[in-house]
Amino acid sequence: MIVNYIIKKDLLFEGKTKKIYATKNPFEVLIHHKDYLTALDGLRKNFLQDKGILNNEITTLIFKFLNSCGIKTHFIRKINNREQLCYKVDMIPLEFVVRNVVAGSMSKRLGIKEGVHLSNPIFEIFYKNDKLKDPLINDHHAVFLKALSYEELNSIYSIISKINYIIKKYFLNKNIILVDFKVEFGKNHKNEILLSDEISPDTCRFWDKKTMKKLDKDLFRMELNEKKEVFDIYIEILKRLNVS
Ligand code: UDP
Repeated sequence: MIVNYIIKKDLLFEGKTKKIYATKNPFEVLIHHKDYLTALDGLRKNFLQDKGILNNEITTLIFKFLNSCGIKTHFIRKINNREQLCYKVDMIPLEFVVRNVVAGSMSKRLGIKEGVHLSNPIFEIFYKNDKLKDPLINDHHAVFLKALSYEELNSIYSIISKINYIIKKYFLNKNIILVDFKVEFGKNHKNEILLSDEISPDTCRFWDKKTMKKLDKDLFRMELNEKKEVFDIYIEILKRLNVS
């Protein structure tokens, strides 16, 4: 019989919405989802009871699905309602945004109305740096900053293209339009690139296919919301993901 227990050790890192703990295995970490919702580069931060439970469940379902489709991710398994066991990685300090429909910062930057469907997905890179407020950069900046090599960048473009293809279909099947999303990558001890962090309503724009209603944290960004409304939207996403 395999005894399934994890020894939670030192806190390695605490971010805005997650805590990362060492485990007895040096190649694995425990990721704990907190009940915080942030927006606008962390400028807005609100406590939202049990939001960590929903995000842990939603990101678990998506990462399990991606693993089953052959995408290499950091996700090993869910441990309890707030925690998951993942491979330990060194994070690449970049955010990769994939856009299928114009929205958010792209709409503002280029003066194009939200909702224009893109014939090909557009990829963007943001440099993770709180002081600089995560600026938009290009491939050459990323390599110059020594975040990764051109070869690694090319393989990440190929991975995010596959991820987009897979999850766009997955969500459409649940009557959700995947407008855009952000992903992050890390390298394991063998220097392999793994999809890391999370994919959830915190990191994606989801619109209902029929009503075009926003089903993500955009409501929170726009300050139009009651906390309950945001919570209900996360529940709605989870419900739809659980229907096959
Ligand atoms: N995003 C994210 N974290 C960030 C910035 C953006 O997860 O720090 C996600 C966001 O949820 C959206 C996509 O990346 O799905 C594109 O965001 P955008 O560049 O439009 O910026 P925003 O409107 O979030 O400021």
